[in-house]
Amino acid sequence: MTVKAIQKNWVVGPFQCNCRLIVCEETGEAALIDPGDEAEKILRNLEGVKTSSGVPLKLRYLLHTHGHLDHVGASRKVRESRGEGPKISMHRGDEPLYLQLIEQGRLFGLKYDQPLPIDEYLEDTQEIRVGRLLLSVLHTPGHSPGSVCIRMHEDSEGGVLETVFSGDTLFQGSVGRTDLWGGDQDQMFKSIRQRLLVLDGDTRICPGHGPDTTVGTEKLKNPFLI
Ligand SMILES: [Zn+2]
Ligand SMILES: [Zn+2]
Repeated sequence: MTVKAIQKNWVVGPFQCNCRLIVCEETGEAALIDPGDEAEKILRNLEGVKTSSGVPLKLRYLLHTHGHLDHVGASRKVRESRGEGPKISMHRGDEPLYLQLIEQGRLFGLKYDQPLPIDEYLEDTQEIRVGRLLLSVLHTPGHSPGSVCIRMHEDSEGGVLETVFSGDTLFQGSVGRTDLWGGDQDQMFKSIRQRLLVLDGDTRICPGHGPDTTVGTEKLKNPFLI
């Protein structure tokens, strides 16, 4: 029996954050990764997502790769508007940053509401079930203390298909900045080399901004890593 995911990417807000939706085709259970801005657009888009089996969408999680404003800005509105009460999930290391969303916004001249409390702390190696989809958490500090990457393990014709939602830690041809609150460059490069580049070369990387890539491509071509 193969387990397949519906995947959507909606680019939101002035920082063009990739807000990702993953849905278990079979059960309709779903998780949003980084609902960073434009709550109305996200909510409208969610209404339009249909599973092939016709089961309705059940949004279970709002997973955050980290606590920066451009990745958390729509969480409150989405959480409050969806009757399922999706869990706000994040690594404990970024909780202080997340709770200072209003102050983060002020530095960029942007307005936010006070964020809701975190419902569940993401821990390194933690497994998360979204219907029949299996996700797991990699704690990859550096861009921020509580940055995580979310792995998704999906069956495909040739075996297991691996996808990593890499937040602002690894991009196509680039890496995260470390000059913001609690950033640490050495730690980030350690996270990238020890937790991401060790994955299979075919592993798809879906960053928090910009186009998708693969582990193999970044190993060969990313100027910050070669
Ligand atoms: Zn960031
Ligand atoms: Zn970002």
